[in-house]
Amino acid sequence: MSDAIDWARVRAAFPILDQQVSGWPLIYFDNAATSQKPRPVIEALVRHYERDNANVHRGLHELSRRSTDAYEAARATVARFLGAAHPEEIVFTRGTTESVNLVAQVWAERFLKPGDAVLVTAMDHHSNLVPWQLAVRRAGAVLKWVPVTDTGTLDLDALDALLTPEVRLFAFVHISNSLGTLNPAADLCRRARAHGITTFVDGAQSAGHIPVDVRALGCDFFAFSGHKMGAPTGIGALYGRREVLETMPPWQGGGEMIHRVTLEESTFKAPPARFEAGTPNVAGAVGLAAAVDFLEALGLPAVAARDDALTRHALERLESIPGLRVLGPAAPRGSLVSFSLDGVHPHDLVTFADTRGLALRGGHHCTQPLLRRFGVPATTRASFYFYNTPEEIDRMVEILDEARRFFAP
Ligand code: PMP
Repeated sequence: MSDAIDWARVRAAFPILDQQVSGWPLIYFDNAATSQKPRPVIEALVRHYERDNANVHRGLHELSRRSTDAYEAARATVARFLGAAHPEEIVFTRGTTESVNLVAQVWAERFLKPGDAVLVTAMDHHSNLVPWQLAVRRAGAVLKWVPVTDTGTLDLDALDALLTPEVRLFAFVHISNSLGTLNPAADLCRRARAHGITTFVDGAQSAGHIPVDVRALGCDFFAFSGHKMGAPTGIGALYGRREVLETMPPWQGGGEMIHRVTLEESTFKAPPARFEAGTPNVAGAVGLAAAVDFLEALGLPAVAARDDALTRHALERLESIPGLRVLGPAAPRGSLVSFSLDGVHPHDLVTFADTRGLALRGGHHCTQPLLRRFGVPATTRASFYFYNTPEEIDRMVEILDEARRFFAP
């Protein structure tokens, strides 16, 4: 695993990683749930609050100007990061969940009619499933889903038959947070577009891990969460193609999203302001821009290669543990590994790992239908980011093997 970047130096930028848990060096393998934050992101937050903090857009004083400039510069940074054509195509949200709910309420209110259908997949996170269930119920439409094969990929042979004239929108996960499957997003968007179907990509596990270019993907919407890619919690974005955002009515009402208000009615600003009612998470946006700068300085291809090398190493080493079964395809996949270990409940395994300073996650990972499909109530998941090391993976394998012997009947 040798390349031009000194990954030990990169890791040193993440202060939280340098600590002991239960008397052992912390091994943080819960990155798919949330990532750790590099010092430049933490410092950007501190600098913002120590020097620039004020409310945005409506102030005419120096600090408000600085905060507004930083907030709008962050929008331009995110637009560049996603390959969007215009900063106005970026709506700041709390994260992926809020982005899906925005579209499932606003786009659906305008475009979804009784008898229409929304297509999702059987591997979607509850965040990209439940909002669509609610949307179709409100509209009198129906939900359909692309099935998942035994190897944990989308059943693409079934897709064409599902792209019927009733389908108005196809929402799917880019990288599955449960299986690790990397879906062929550009191909899926192309096939949907050929039928005039609007596309929504859940990029919660892909943004910040692999290069993302929304125009190359050809999607109408793309959602991600900053906290999974080195930025603070509570900030993320929705990319919406300008022509699509402009057709959408407002979402939440309040300050900042209006032009003119009378007691009877209001007129509304153009996107993205139309969808950003109230005081936004300015510091979060500043932190998100700092995270993007950090990732881009490393280079997304290098980050993706590092993630991939760690994942390959894990897949190879986990084969040595008797009774351990990895879910999901061998490739292409994101930087996480979900597995079952014979005779050991994931919660027991995760609790055991914690006593050795190893942070894993056990549960249904907000994908209950998917785990039901594989006949398991829960899995154990190890998820990696570029600051993790092959040595940490070797240590995880030792701990898992120790747990296997500890729990053996
Ligand atoms: N989609 C996927 C694939 C995810 O992994 C997650 C987070 N686990 C979400 C959506 C929801 O993200 P958030 O909780 O940041 O809104």
